[in-house]
Amino acid sequence: MPMSSTIASVSALQVRLPFDHGGPAPLFAGKRRTTLDSVWVRVELENGMVGWGESYGADLDAMTSIFRNRVAALAVGRDAQEPGLAAALDRTLHNMGRSGPVTHALSGLDIALWDLRGKLAGVPVYKLLGGARRTRIPAYASLLQYYGDTSLVARNVASAMAAGYGQVKLHERTLDSVRAARAAMGAGVPLMLDTNCAWDRQAAIAAVNEMREFGLHWVEEPVWPPEDLASLVAVREATGVATAVGENASSLFELMALVRARSADYVQPSAIKSGGLSTLKAVADACAGTFVTHSPQSAFFGPGFLATLHVLAAQEQEVAVERLFCQLGHVPYAQSVPFEGGAFQLSDAPGLGADPEPSLLSGPCVS
Ligand SMILES: [Mg+2]
Repeated sequence: MPMSSTIASVSALQVRLPFDHGGPAPLFAGKRRTTLDSVWVRVELENGMVGWGESYGADLDAMTSIFRNRVAALAVGRDAQEPGLAAALDRTLHNMGRSGPVTHALSGLDIALWDLRGKLAGVPVYKLLGGARRTRIPAYASLLQYYGDTSLVARNVASAMAAGYGQVKLHERTLDSVRAARAAMGAGVPLMLDTNCAWDRQAAIAAVNEMREFGLHWVEEPVWPPEDLASLVAVREATGVATAVGENASSLFELMALVRARSADYVQPSAIKSGGLSTLKAVADACAGTFVTHSPQSAFFGPGFLATLHVLAAQEQEVAVERLFCQLGHVPYAQSVPFEGGAFQLSDAPGLGADPEPSLLSGPCVS
């Protein structure tokens, strides 16, 4: 006799959100991108309850295949309330690689299981994480790349400020872009710079030293490869500017080592890449009371974004959530988790607090 919380099905939906970031289509992994893509994970229990997760969409067809052939095959028939179910599947699948699509898929499953645990208990997920220290989560505007076009940088920084954001992050690499952003936002507003691994150690130190006068709150992934932590530490030591890293870390183990060694000031796991909500929770707990801040990466808009908000609601230190600054063809959860006055407001609805809108699921963004 199956329990009511037995998993009946796991399916992967391909979600492509059209976006406009006020500039030419940016490159992503060498291709122009016109949609922001991820896989939304739908887990249905035998009692009919549905939980939602999100996985990184490096290749949507690959993710669909992994869910069908690997994750669903192992998860169906298991109890969604089984502690460590996602971790157990991680162990089972470990020889398929310790990062990449399988890990991304398990991240989405983990998020969906947290949504279900909250719904089964009738409480918001932040309650399961120890309770909310805040339900209003401030956000920073994470601008996409304008490739050094300082007028586009300035215009979009001004738009972000006008939209209510109190902090801004650039994905740029030039001194002129940083200068233009600072001029557009004025003094005193936190400004972060994410180079997506632009430089080697010496080039990073030289560039960041030049930018220092414009007041960088942190410099994110300044060196290639991102796992060159010795160079990352050297950038901080040579410039005095705080560093951030973590979205390309492959496992919780690697993230915990980052925290313990204080290899960066801000550690940035991605909920949809590095093990789901469980990883964010573990890193947040490890950072509590230390000099390292858990400041997750969240360049996505679905259940993974909600999972990130719940961890930030519960963690000790208040940090702003990353929100990509662009107009979306569909804004998920615009009504249920509204953005007002520079912050996202979580409700006390059970689980992650919101399900995907029927208009999204039946519309052209989803296949
Ligand atoms: Mg980043």
